[in-house]
Amino acid sequence: MATRIGVLAVQGAFALHRAHIEALGAEYREVWRHQDFAAIDALIIPGGESATMLKLLATLDLQKVLTEFSTEKPTWGICAGAILLARSVTNPCQESLARIDVDIARNSYGRQLNSSHEEVNGYRVSYIRAPRITRIGSDVEVLAYKGDDPSWVESGKVMLTTFHPETNLHAPSPWHRRLAQSSFRA
Ligand code: GLN
Repeated sequence: MATRIGVLAVQGAFALHRAHIEALGAEYREVWRHQDFAAIDALIIPGGESATMLKLLATLDLQKVLTEFSTEKPTWGICAGAILLARSVTNPCQESLARIDVDIARNSYGRQLNSSHEEVNGYRVSYIRAPRITRIGSDVEVLAYKGDDPSWVESGKVMLTTFHPETNLHAPSPWHRRLAQSSFRA
């Protein structure tokens, strides 16, 4: 089990993960410096604004270390975090780290769904100005859908959810447990 779980803490909804991580008996670590990556076993890239996060990653010179980390250790991108890890991004186009073979469109469920709650595997999760996964590569496994669109996918060390489980669920959420147990599909 991952005993030290980092949450990228440059912007966005990182603090709510603390309760989930600690409920697993793991250590919560905020990550914003290069050296922080050496002291964690798994990473959450939280929701927020992906364009802002991207700028801050460049400013803090974290793109390379984050890319390397997510090649080797379990990394979960939530909403904006999923956008950062996708292979290509539209609506509008922006750079990404291309760590998983999916294409994703930002803010893609329209105004009325800027925020909504839905059930995934019996758990009530939140979609907050969520992106839409528009294409998946052949090595990507889909574990849940929102309508016809994949909303929970995994490949290698990377897991993406376009929803947030940290906002409503009792801690620890099953996704935090999955990350800690590193039980993604290899
Ligand atoms: N709309 C945000 C973006 O495009 C993502 C929203 C979220 O992370 N909840 O980056």
